[in-house]
Amino acid sequence: MAQTLTAPKVKVDRKWQLWIDGKFVEGASQRTLINPATGKELCKVAEANKAQVELAIKAARKAFDHGPWPKLTAQERSAFLYKLAAKIEENADELAELETLNGGKPLRETQFDMADAAACFRYYAGLATKPTGQSIDVPAASVTTVVREPIGVCGQIIPWNYPLLMAAWKLAPALAAGNTCVLKPSEYTPLTAIKLAEILQELELPNGVVNIVLGDGPTVGQPLAESLLVDKIAFTGSIKTGKIIAQAALTNLKKVTLELGGKSPMVVFADVDLDTAVDYALFAIYTNAGQVCSAGSRMLVDESIYPAFVKKMAERAKKIKVGPGLDSETEMGPLVSEQQMKRVLEYIEIGKKEGAKLEVGGDQPTGEKYQNGYYINPTIFVNCKNDMRIVQEEIFGPVVVIQKFASEEEAIELANSTAFGLAGAVFTSDVTRAHRVVKAIRAGITWVNGYHSTYNECPWGGYKQSGWGRELGTFGLEAYTEVKQVNINLDPQPVHWFKP
Ligand code: NAD
Repeated sequence: MAQTLTAPKVKVDRKWQLWIDGKFVEGASQRTLINPATGKELCKVAEANKAQVELAIKAARKAFDHGPWPKLTAQERSAFLYKLAAKIEENADELAELETLNGGKPLRETQFDMADAAACFRYYAGLATKPTGQSIDVPAASVTTVVREPIGVCGQIIPWNYPLLMAAWKLAPALAAGNTCVLKPSEYTPLTAIKLAEILQELELPNGVVNIVLGDGPTVGQPLAESLLVDKIAFTGSIKTGKIIAQAALTNLKKVTLELGGKSPMVVFADVDLDTAVDYALFAIYTNAGQVCSAGSRMLVDESIYPAFVKKMAERAKKIKVGPGLDSETEMGPLVSEQQMKRVLEYIEIGKKEGAKLEVGGDQPTGEKYQNGYYINPTIFVNCKNDMRIVQEEIFGPVVVIQKFASEEEAIELANSTAFGLAGAVFTSDVTRAHRVVKAIRAGITWVNGYHSTYNECPWGGYKQSGWGRELGTFGLEAYTEVKQVNINLDPQPVHWFKP
């Protein structure tokens, strides 16, 4: 893995282009990317117009309808994905540094993400060759099987908080199943996706199987979601955009999966080891500066330990080392963009106006190191009412609310009291209570005495407005397949339904 650095090693002053039909091409326009750690220009990237998005879609269509990829055996697709995983590992240092420069997160996190992305491709390389389908005894002389086939052209739109990992979550199952793809990274963090395209080109992926289009949502994402030539749209991002995508997908009733936001509760009962629970609480909210869809952004704490919990968490939050992602001392980096920083600062103001008490943070670090960067200190609000906006809405920054409860019933009610249902955790040493509470939490991803562990092998996605469908695991592969029943008549005699 990469050694930690203070000066970037990776070269960003180069061409960053679209990848369409196996070729790197200039965009219709350019965007200047900003390094969130410094607020200074990082590099320029090409961006597509609608016509270029259509070219990419047509390339994916041709690759699916006439190209070799869907016709390869599962073993051949699997072999390609294994090679891809190995190449990502080989390039992990460069990819991690690019991700840190582009998105701001500390190297220790981006290094982890690169390993995770490689593991995701490897997992689906393995799954591609595992048995699928069914053989069914039907009441006729028939051999009847159920097979899974690729859906076709998949549009994939991803956010900025885990750029390469989100690309892996989308591309790995889609390719394993034999689909072709048009991937749209976030306009803020396209660099590792372009680097991935270079790796795919080096590995000689057939033209048009993966296309990378860059640019903003309305210009590039929307035509992808609306296109009549696209068979499935897979989206990860905010609820607001998810609803726009779902509407746009109605044009041809394309298949839709949505991985959306969260306001996930971590419920802490009085019988826990306080230090351990506080340690997990910090991990739950401040990883990636809180820009995690499943972040534990609502602490629900038994009233008997509430004062001690708040005190300990505030003490530890103050000690978190905020700084540039390339600095080996840094524990929490800047936010991804000026826009996101302003959004989070606005929420902090809203919280204060709503009457919540700022226990710690709420401000920005000062000093030369932080000048012009998009930093916000770890922030804790207490004395929160459940209907406050800072309790109900996703802030997507290093801001947590700590609420208290008097009973298990109240804890469950509070845990389920938002529009979201992505994740949730319970901390207790009582095993029956752990089961009861996890069962009652309306969320797709839950932990007992833990937080944030995710596995390529397990389904990821939310209840309620946190999304439609699941990614990862066998569920993730199924979401990139159509199901076909095949009936083979073993005794083809006239049926005489109509008189001869
Ligand atoms: P966003 O919704 O603003 O953007 C996500 C993507 O959608 C970007 O690529 C953007 O360009 C594109 N987009 C925007 N408008 C569009 C439109 N009209 N048509 C098509 N595409 C459009 O989200 P974001 O700010 O990039 O990411 C943060 C959000 O993502 C948070 O809500 C977070 O919870 C969510 N998220 C969810 C998961 C999950 O697995 N559930 C994972 C990561 C992030």
